[in-house]
Amino acid sequence: MSLSQLSTLNSQPFSDYHTHPQGHRVQRYTRELLQPWVDSARAKGLSDIALTDHDRYHAGIDFDVIDRVREENPDVRIRAGIELDNDPVRGAEGRRWVEGNWSKLDFVLGSVHFLDRPDQMFDSVPEGVDQFAGRNIDRIYEDYFKRVGEMAASGLVDCLAHFDLIKIHGHRPKSDATSLAMETLRLIKSRGLGIELSTAGWRKPVNELYPSDGIIGRAIAEGILFTTASDAHSHAQLGENYDRLAEKMRQLGIREVALYEQHKREMRSL
Ligand SMILES: [Zn+2]
Ligand SMILES: [Zn+2]
Repeated sequence: MSLSQLSTLNSQPFSDYHTHPQGHRVQRYTRELLQPWVDSARAKGLSDIALTDHDRYHAGIDFDVIDRVREENPDVRIRAGIELDNDPVRGAEGRRWVEGNWSKLDFVLGSVHFLDRPDQMFDSVPEGVDQFAGRNIDRIYEDYFKRVGEMAASGLVDCLAHFDLIKIHGHRPKSDATSLAMETLRLIKSRGLGIELSTAGWRKPVNELYPSDGIIGRAIAEGILFTTASDAHSHAQLGENYDRLAEKMRQLGIREVALYEQHKREMRSL
């Protein structure tokens, strides 16, 4: 086998830092809930996963159970995490919970799911598309990236999730989306935060990786580092489309991924 063939084989991403064991309701963490996720990770060749349920379901998270599952599965690194979003109703409580449990958490994802409507995530498919109807798409993009910037400046997150989620339904601004995102990218860099490469965009109407190639290129130029993620809401979705992601990372020249332990970042080569 040639060296290039070997490096191709070795370049598959091995970490998934965006997962939802609870799905979309409070489900108390138990070994029965978490073990299938570890089994699925192992079966897919993933050796490092972060549990990042939505902050509104924090009542289900049990750090002792996570420790127990870690002890029973020493071959898979399991990071305790959460996805903190800008929920205008429940967000304050989520932020307090993250602050109170900061030392137990390895990794906090920051997300923007809400625009003007406090009662509906704009990324709900298909209903969320109504929030774009008749609106100026450039203004919506600006507003969205401003909110992402606020999340990045909160001091409560390690990494930004699905950085250009605003494209989910396929709306494109007239001006260049990368330019609209630049200020926020610089803020992320100045804060030393990461952004994720999320395959979830490939299963949404936009059918594109989060973020776009253009934004990834600018992020690389700024020196921003990346995690790899599927945003799995079922253990079957762990590492979804990672072969496609591997190809994309090869094309874009990304050869290492960010891992987090106790909010400390470590870079690991593919
Ligand atoms: Zn999200
Ligand atoms: Zn998520």
